[in-house]
Amino acid sequence: MATSPAGAGRPKTRGIVLDHIRAARTISRIELAAVTGVTPATITQVVRELMAHGLVVEVGRGASTGGKPPTLLQLNPHARYAVGVLFERNSCVIVIVDLTGRQVARTSFPGTALLPPEQALSIVASRVEALIGAAGVDRGRVLGVGLATYGPQDRQTGVLLTHQPTAEWFEYPVGPRLSELLGLPVLLDNDAAAAAIGEHWLGAVEQDTFGCLYMASGIGGGVVVDGEVYRGVSSNGVEIGHITIDVNGGRCDCGNYGCLGNYADPSAVIKQALEDSSLGRRLGLDPADTDVMTAFGRVATAAGAGDPAARGLVEGSARHLGTAAVTMASLFDLDLIVLAGPSFAAAGSIYQSVIEEEVQRRTFARRAHPVRVVTSVSGSDAAAIGGAVLVLQSELAFLELDARA
Ligand SMILES: [Zn+2]
Repeated sequence: MATSPAGAGRPKTRGIVLDHIRAARTISRIELAAVTGVTPATITQVVRELMAHGLVVEVGRGASTGGKPPTLLQLNPHARYAVGVLFERNSCVIVIVDLTGRQVARTSFPGTALLPPEQALSIVASRVEALIGAAGVDRGRVLGVGLATYGPQDRQTGVLLTHQPTAEWFEYPVGPRLSELLGLPVLLDNDAAAAAIGEHWLGAVEQDTFGCLYMASGIGGGVVVDGEVYRGVSSNGVEIGHITIDVNGGRCDCGNYGCLGNYADPSAVIKQALEDSSLGRRLGLDPADTDVMTAFGRVATAAGAGDPAARGLVEGSARHLGTAAVTMASLFDLDLIVLAGPSFAAAGSIYQSVIEEEVQRRTFARRAHPVRVVTSVSGSDAAAIGGAVLVLQSELAFLELDARA
């Protein structure tokens, strides 16, 4: 149904128009009316308003379909920015993206280890401030911060519902506190869901429905359906690291038994490497070391370089992740699974080939359609970029125009 001109000033109509311009990169007013179902008169009015505020610019003319060639519109990349933070105990990535989702600045640091929330978030806040300053971005144009991290979490209130990495983090209001420190809106989101939407927004994944297996220090999953992250009831869905792969397995911290993560995540791989004293010595692994990502990186590098023991461990982990990929593809009827996150980036090709092999061999729907397994193009940054993109999506959907532009 077409929207009446009276709806032009409504933030929701603006958000829809902005999102279509973003997705198309360049588009004419006539095409906008056709894809949005909004009347041409309303489109003209909304576009005029968006141009007056510097959010949309005209960029030449498109192909003629008989009459005068239509003027093409695109988003003004410098009109607004969003910050994305991947927050992991042993690895943090901060990015700034412009209004089109293009990355304009990036920094990373080795995480905040076991520091209590107050100290850890102060470090994150100061790093965000420093990056905004270094990038020369007008702070008044920053829409907010997307904080992508592990779950379970209460996305609505910005609270973590986990004792990781220490008990002090349980029910700590990470979102509201970081927002207070920065004076910017902060959206808390699941790292795997953020990585999935980041891949989609960047155009790395051309289809609108796909699955994402995510591995940092833990294993998670995200499923994008028709361009939107599948949220479930509480945004704690697709926790593929906590599916049972051994019904007789030990109890996991989550309460379930025999969870995938306990057999296949980086901590499990390091534990197995330490049980092989010769491998542990060769790689310089220290049982007291809490830096999981660096130790896993050593095993992954050795595996890639052909160390048979290291390779055996990484392949074992990959077989278990293959089970997760088969499960995900069968549950959601997917034909594409993207491997994202810092741990896949560290040992990408081994995981990709083993997981693909398992999926080809075991997926229920393989007779109906092929299922591809690909490695993320944005590597360890996918979740941070996705975090920023979720801010753009959320803020632009109900954008209030003001004097900033
Ligand atoms: Zn579990």
